Amino acid sequence: MKPERPEFPAPPDAPARRAARPVITYPPEALTPPDLALYRAARATAQKTGETLVPPRQARAFHVAAGSFFRITCTEGAQVGDLNLWSAADPAERFFSGKTRALHGTHLSTGDRLWSALPYLRPMATIIADTLDWYGFDADGASVHDVIGTRCDPYTHHLMTGAPYHHCCHSNLTRALVGETGQPAAAAEPMVHDVLNVFMATGFTRDTGQYFMKASPVRPGDYLEFFAEIDLTGALSACPGGDCSATHSSDAAACFPLLVEVFAPAPGALGGWQPPAVNGYDRTHGIAGK
Ligand SMILES: [Zn+2]
Repeated sequence: MKPERPEFPAPPDAPARRAARPVITYPPEALTPPDLALYRAARATAQKTGETLVPPRQARAFHVAAGSFFRITCTEGAQVGDLNLWSAADPAERFFSGKTRALHGTHLSTGDRLWSALPYLRPMATIIADTLDWYGFDADGASVHDVIGTRCDPYTHHLMTGAPYHHCCHSNLTRALVGETGQPAAAAEPMVHDVLNVFMATGFTRDTGQYFMKASPVRPGDYLEFFAEIDLTGALSACPGGDCSATHSSDAAACFPLLVEVFAPAPGALGGWQPPAVNGYDRTHGIAGK
């Protein structure tokens, strides 16, 4: 049992301590902004080069070349998706939801970037369009497309229910990677990482700070579109929670397919654009007197 909290009395200067001014931890103006005008001009020239339909309670992998675009679309009904990204050249470089959250906030939208894990820490993709950007933050403090959740997984489900369930996003992504790479599940599973929760409406309760979800505002035709900053392998799971209005980690919710489409711009449309280099820190960590 948790103790009744607080267990310790507030000090006399508690109000003053609590009144300290919040400081944005990572001022966004310190980052080089994406050239959205360039990306959008290139997008206007782009042709569709492929598509992947992600069935309900399944995941599928896809590939996007650096300088191309991919769009995730809600098709037949409200459905959230769990997105993983890897560098196609080196799957050790994968999406880092925690640092992306620290840099951009709890929920992502147009102009925000998906950053890769240390020691790479560079933009993997940039959001160039979000038809749900009108939602903002609602009265519950919820918004859309979060980097605060992890992904539904059979281990947490087992902790809480003792039962197995094989179509959590974690397992769906694992199966998609097995199919994509030919690796056994034991090798593919550790590649799965914390996701961008596409279309999901989430927040933290204001009184207790607990993670919550509510019915996604997404409707058929809504989409989230990205510019691929590097050569990407992606995997998207159509979450068993459906619109995540009530439950997940079961077959109870109505679930629908999600569509991933890839578009390549006309040659030269990006001018002299080049994929970003990996992070410039020298990785010596103060060892050997540096
Ligand atoms: Zn899920």
